[in-house]
Amino acid sequence: MTDRRYLVKEMFGPTLQGEGAHAGRAVVFLRFAACNLACPGCDTDFSPAGAQRMTAAEIVVRLVALDVGHTGRVVVTGGEPTLQWDAALAGAIRGAGFRAHMESNATRPLAAPVDWLTISPKPQHHPARVALADGLPADEVKVVVDDTVDEAALDRYAARWRCEHYFVQPWMDDRYAHHLARTLALIHARPRWRLSLQLHKIIGVP
Ligand code: SF4
Repeated sequence: MTDRRYLVKEMFGPTLQGEGAHAGRAVVFLRFAACNLACPGCDTDFSPAGAQRMTAAEIVVRLVALDVGHTGRVVVTGGEPTLQWDAALAGAIRGAGFRAHMESNATRPLAAPVDWLTISPKPQHHPARVALADGLPADEVKVVVDDTVDEAALDRYAARWRCEHYFVQPWMDDRYAHHLARTLALIHARPRWRLSLQLHKIIGVP
């Protein structure tokens, strides 16, 4: 373990994973501050305001305390978690018995292993200097659907990341009904893709 301090926005649990193939599963959450993108409509507060600088040991102690049901699963998110995920932290968290489930925007390589990688690409919102990273070991691809996402985009993602699980998920903003209708139409056009809903918002858990 190193003395590096990671910028942690919040840790909470026990709660449920709300999205993707593990939706409904009991987990604890580790949310880092900071993101390398600024997508319009982003619903996550990842600003450094209120974040804490914590060592890997401090993070593990907190996760263990939160995991009262011994789920052994931590969702590692942000912001963009690859900005901070490194071998020391991965070793500490996984060494404490947690499976690390990460959600990334796929613009950066992974500096250390995870146990489940969700790719949530948003290239339509990248500045030109940012590209999708190559070689990421995706376990699932989850595309948040707005007016910029079409069948061709889904085809490109499915060709780029070969994995078992492909999800489309409507943006949950003030045009939710519109995005949901578009999502359903995409599923009928591309049945490999399945519906993901933000269950945690629907049932009102963090
Ligand atoms: S990549 Fe995710 S966290 Fe970062 S700005 Fe976009 S939606 Fe928000």
